[in-house]
Amino acid sequence: MKNIVLFGPPGAGKGTQADILKEKYQLVHISTGDVFRYNIKNETELGTLAKSYMDKGHLVPDEVTIDMLNAEVEKNPDANGFIFDGFPRTEAQATSLAQLMDSKKSQINAMVALEVDDEILVGRLLERGKSSGRPDDANEEVIRERIAEYYRKTDILKGFYQKQDKYYGVDGVGNIEEITERLSEVIDKL
Ligand code: AMP
Repeated sequence: MKNIVLFGPPGAGKGTQADILKEKYQLVHISTGDVFRYNIKNETELGTLAKSYMDKGHLVPDEVTIDMLNAEVEKNPDANGFIFDGFPRTEAQATSLAQLMDSKKSQINAMVALEVDDEILVGRLLERGKSSGRPDDANEEVIRERIAEYYRKTDILKGFYQKQDKYYGVDGVGNIEEITERLSEVIDKL
């Protein structure tokens, strides 16, 4: 079982690459952002709560996010492995994920991080906003707040996985195929 955390700031290309890698390695892809957006679309209680944070570019509280992630993992008892996209984003989430994997006699094998400069991220997200329909991509102030939130709360997780010798940084600038190739080189060795 291979469990991979696909990591990087907003706009690094996690979703695009996760869609390709899940097919290539037969992994279940869980994107916490996608699950929140699904709940917003279906006007659930969770969606209403998440939206109030997402619209500002802030993280949804840990307790809510962790419960949701655990439920998503439990929905896939026969998974060959998971690719986590957009989770964990805080130390509390990373600790909880380790416990969850432990309870399944499994573990996170690697955090693979897409590295992209901030100004490229802003440009990519504004471009994506023209067609993604995501309100948080349409406004430069919210985009910058999401990147700031990443540095405040999420970037620290590099250290969390580095300490366990599980961190792999990959250049996230280039075309989609090149970047898939770079990620695959890491995943193939796990
Ligand atoms: P994403 O689709 O990963 O860019 O996430 C979009 C938004 O959903 C983020 O800006 C957060 O508001 C929220 N979100 C997604 N994943 C998480 C997470 N692991 N923890 C807290 N908030 C999250």
